Amino acid sequence: MSTLPKSLPRYQASRRRFLRTVGLFVGVVGASLATLLPVIAKWVPARLRPPGAIEEPAFLASCIKCGQCVQVCPVQAIRLADIDEAMGVGVPYIDARAQACDFSCDAVQCILACPTGSLNHTIIKKEEVRMGLARVARPEACLASQGQGFQGQARGADFQGLLRYTEIDRWNPIPVRDHPYDLELCDLCVRQCPIETAISLQHIDNEGKRKMPVINKACVGCGVCEMICPVEPTVIVIDERKMWGAA
Ligand code: SF4
Ligand code: SF4
Ligand code: SF4
Repeated sequence: MSTLPKSLPRYQASRRRFLRTVGLFVGVVGASLATLLPVIAKWVPARLRPPGAIEEPAFLASCIKCGQCVQVCPVQAIRLADIDEAMGVGVPYIDARAQACDFSCDAVQCILACPTGSLNHTIIKKEEVRMGLARVARPEACLASQGQGFQGQARGADFQGLLRYTEIDRWNPIPVRDHPYDLELCDLCVRQCPIETAISLQHIDNEGKRKMPVINKACVGCGVCEMICPVEPTVIVIDERKMWGAA
């Protein structure tokens, strides 16, 4: 005589109870995390995120720190935050002054490589990216505003940063230190900007000898202008996640 017909319903009922409990637990934890995300986001240092990064709390929640975006970047612009970054450990960021995103991958490869959509897959062109907005933070220090040129290595002989100079090598970025300049009036931020019309130099005197960089709506916040500026500290900085027209 078998006990199966009696124990099976008991087993099924207990299984249902178990699954309900697990479901409830996951739901409660999920809801709590969703509530906490904006708070967690405030603990994470504000940083320039890779191209296409979705809104900060959602980005922090969805990025699985797999490093795929890091692997594909030809200039190694993307880094993963270190252990001292508390809740932000392992989260990808860009330190533009050290190495900006110059779009030398040609097709926002970091976005294509992201398996979770933390880098928004609907962005397919560099012009659509909005990492932040460049800002002339120290106008008085700008060489062009003083009517000065620039000769030599933009960031000195020790600078490790890379940039693609299409006139030298269409496909491969090279060290910035290997490409010295000889400019009558400094315009490095404008000449190296990878986005057409994002930045321009405008006259600030009647003789046309002194000029000032002006940021335009097309700026995507890639940080090349911050990286290449030869003045120390840099004249231009990127305000991460800032949008054109926002206060
Ligand atoms: S868009 Fe290209 S160059 Fe820029 S961070 Fe992504 S992979 Fe690197
Ligand atoms: S690169 Fe720097 S110093 Fe030169 S024009 Fe631009 S902001 Fe001024
Ligand atoms: S001005 Fe050009 S180089 Fe500077 S952040 Fe904007 S798009 Fe990049």
